[in-house]
Parts: sequence; structure tokens; C-alpha cells
Amino acid sequence: MTTPHYIDGRWVEGQGNDCITVHEPALGLPFAELMSASTAQVDQAVAAARRALPAWKHTSAAARAALLRGFAEQLGARRDPLIALQMRNNGKPRHEAEIDLDDAVATFAYYADLAEQLPEKNRDVPLAVPGFSARTRLEPVGVVGLIVPWNFPLVTSAWKLAPALAAGCTVVLKPSEVTPLIEQAYGQIADVLGLPAGVLNIVNGKAETGAALSSHSGLEKLSFTGSNGVGSQVMRASAAQCRPVTLELGGKSAIVVFDDCDVEQAVQWIIAGITWNAGQMCSATSRLLVQDGIADALLARLQAALETMQVGNPLTEEVQMGPLTSQAQWLKVAGYFATAREEGLQCLAGGKVLDRDGWFVSPTLYVDVPEHSRLWLEEIFGPVLCARRFSTEQQAIAQANDSRFGLVATVCSAELQRAERVADALEVGHVWINSVQAVFVETSWGGTKGSGIGRELGPWGLAAYQSVKHVTRCLG
Ligand code: NAD
Repeated sequence: MTTPHYIDGRWVEGQGNDCITVHEPALGLPFAELMSASTAQVDQAVAAARRALPAWKHTSAAARAALLRGFAEQLGARRDPLIALQMRNNGKPRHEAEIDLDDAVATFAYYADLAEQLPEKNRDVPLAVPGFSARTRLEPVGVVGLIVPWNFPLVTSAWKLAPALAAGCTVVLKPSEVTPLIEQAYGQIADVLGLPAGVLNIVNGKAETGAALSSHSGLEKLSFTGSNGVGSQVMRASAAQCRPVTLELGGKSAIVVFDDCDVEQAVQWIIAGITWNAGQMCSATSRLLVQDGIADALLARLQAALETMQVGNPLTEEVQMGPLTSQAQWLKVAGYFATAREEGLQCLAGGKVLDRDGWFVSPTLYVDVPEHSRLWLEEIFGPVLCARRFSTEQQAIAQANDSRFGLVATVCSAELQRAERVADALEVGHVWINSVQAVFVETSWGGTKGSGIGRELGPWGLAAYQSVKHVTRCLG
């Protein structure tokens, strides 16, 4: 049992109703337990954040920047244990866990830089009408609730915490019940740095704790990353209070491969887009659209590459892909394998769970998947790729855009002008050309259509935690 809740600068035991069991997915075995936070403890966390807000928002931007740099440094100092914990609890291969850590460090360093530039942004506004002047102030939104999922716990939380603290907001973070230990690092770092009590609070729990936070009347904003189903509940709870939300939701994204591509290179991009984090990415490019001229050669090579992938326990074996992170996710993906059999889909690789302990599935390829198939339409959140062929650029764009989601896409072509044209036509928040899943902190993250509301990262990520105020004076 651990004491997992960080409220008002103190570590406390949970008084909630749920016992949370933390698992090692490569073995399917538990390794830690904790009690969830009670609704009263969520109240305490929000109250602490409210008390801390007046002083924190008047802290100099330079002081906030220094603390954010401290977070980056302290994450670096905890590098080895945090990588080991992500490998154990998420089942991530080592190099993926390392990239997550580096991403979180870069996020805090970037928002430290942006925080330092904040005073310059209190600028005069040129007015066309004489006799008046005006200036812009960017103020913190206030107390913010942050609810995150389990697939990239360090990263998703960093993308919210760093800009929120940079803007001068105080926060209550609720990590996922699947990975509740990883974000405790942020509370430990707050302790080491002497972050004022109440600026950062962490409450762990399941849906009940999340709902207590998302419906709390003491918040000015809620930022949520997770599934569409829960996202719409969070939005309803916020609508009841008429307060803003940022929603980072699901995806069913396309990778479009034109026939002027090098087959080997394209196969590498396709595999990375569907097997990184065992496919448990909102941005997984799980729909392959391949042009007729290259389709047979590419699908044959892809089949061979997926069938020979090394899948196993990242802690004890050399692996390219680990297990799924939770038993629930493993059962969900297995359910899609059953649906594929019922639908009569043509399976070129995988399509089954592995016959070993732990929550493993084979990297999977279905081809010529009908547009009405559930596997073509729904987010699976596993290493399951569905392929269709196209002949013209317009067909590729139409098939990629025919989705209720709009998170990301990848375009692969030797003809850069065409790739840029297709990128412009895709109805998504981020497009990669001849690269895959490369997220830089300077660029934005977020989706169109059912993939969410708002943007994280870059200056847009900071703006999500700022309120615009103008002061206009009469000069007469
Ligand atoms: P989830 O929606 O089940 O849970 C997300 C968080 O919400 C968890 O902390 C959970 O405890 C909490 N929660 C559950 N019920 C709640 C309720 N009623 N009220 C408030 N909070 C509640 O999602 P998940 O399974 O943890 O994550 C997978 C999903 O997240 C996928 O759909 C994936 O696409 C999405 N995701 C999106 C992005 C993005 O940037 N767009 C990034 C990562 C994951």
C-alpha cells in the first residue's frame, strides 16, 4: 500500500471507496495497491488550489520559469527509476520509455522559456480611434482540473502541468488508475523544489474520483485527455458550470502511401505508426491507404515484417513491442479479433492473442477492409492495422477524411509538392510528411471533429491556460 495523494503539500492516504491494483502487464501480475481519494479529499485538493492561487498568480514569471526548469532537471535526476517504472507498469520497451522521459523534460524546459517571455506580452494595442489607448494582459485562467489517461502518463501530464503552472494557474491532477505511481514523481519534485503548498495537487482514483473533480464547482477550467465516452461526460459536467474544457480524445488516423515511395522505408513508417506503445496511441495511424501501383509489394513486405517482430517482456527480453498495458485493453483488442473473424476480414498477420502469461497480442494486419467494417471505423487502441487501396490522390484524401475523428495523418511520397497538397487537404490537427509520430513541443497537438477541442503544446498550449484581459484608458 502506498500513500499516493498529494494534497496541499502533504502526502496522504486515500479515504475513497476503490482499491486500485497496479499491474505489471508483461506478467499479468499485481505489484502495488492503493486506496482512491474520497470525494472529500478531492474537495480538499480543490480548496488547497484555490487558497494557493492568489499568491501563485502574482509570483513573477521569472520565478515560475525557474521552478519549471527545476521540474525538468529533477525529472532528469529521476531518469532511471522513471524509465524502469514505465517499462514495468506500461510495458513500454526501454527506448520508448526513454523518449517519454525526454519529452516530459523538454516540455518543462520549453514552458520555462515561454514563462520568461510573458511580461513582454503585456503590450500596448494600437487603436484606430484617437484619444484612447489600451494594453493587453494575459492572466491565468485560475484553478484547473487535469484528468489524464494511462498510455503516456509522464508526457500527457507534462503537456498539461507545465503550461498551466507557467501561466500562473494552480492545478489538481488526476492520473489514470492504471498507472497511478508514475505521476507521483511530479509531487515529489514539487516537494524538493519547495513549490508552495496547494499549487500542484494530485488525487488518484477511478471514474468516481474523476467525476468528483470534473463536476467540482471550484474549478475555472477542465483539461481532459482520454476516451470520447468519458470526454463527453466531462464536457457535460463542465457545461453544467458553463466553464471551458480542453478535450484530447481518440483517433482513427490514416497513413497514406503513394506508389513513388521506397517500400522498405514506407514499411518502417507504417510499423512505427501502429506498433509504438503496442498501438496504444491516440495518434496511431491505424488506417493504411496504399496506392495500387505499390500495394502488392508493400503489403507482402509489411506482412513479413509484422510476423517477425519481437514481442515480449521489455524487462527481460530484447523487444520491439511489449504487452498491452491493461487486461481491459487486452480483452478489448481480443474482441476486435473476434469481430474481424465474424466480418470475414482477410488477415495477413497476427489477429490473435499470444499464448503466454501477460497481456500480449500479435501485431496485426487486415487487408481490403470494407469501409463499413467496425475495424475500419472504430478506435481499437492496439497494434491492429487495417489496409485499403486507392488509385488517385482524390480517393486517398476522401477515404482518409471519411472519419468521425480528425487527430493526425501521415503522408508518404517522394513528390513533396503532392505530399504538401494532400497534407493541406486532410481534416486533422497534425500531419507528418515522410516521418511518423514526431511530436515537437513547439508544434501544436490536438484534433478536429471527434478528436477533441483545443490544442496543447506550443504557444497554443499556454494560451489554453490564459485569460485575455484588456485595459482601455481615455487619454483626454
Ligand atoms: P478513459 O477515458 O477511460 O480515462 C481517462 C481518464 O478519465 C482516467 O484518468 C479515468 O480514471 C478518468 N475517468 C474515467 N471515468 C471518468 C468520469 N466519469 N469522469 C471523469 N473522469 C473519468 O481513457 P483511457 O482508457 O485512460 O485512455 C485511452 C483513450 O485516451 C483513448 O481513446 C485515446 O485515444 C485517448 N487519448 C487521447 C490523446 C490525445 O492527445 N488526443 C492522448 C492519449 C490518449
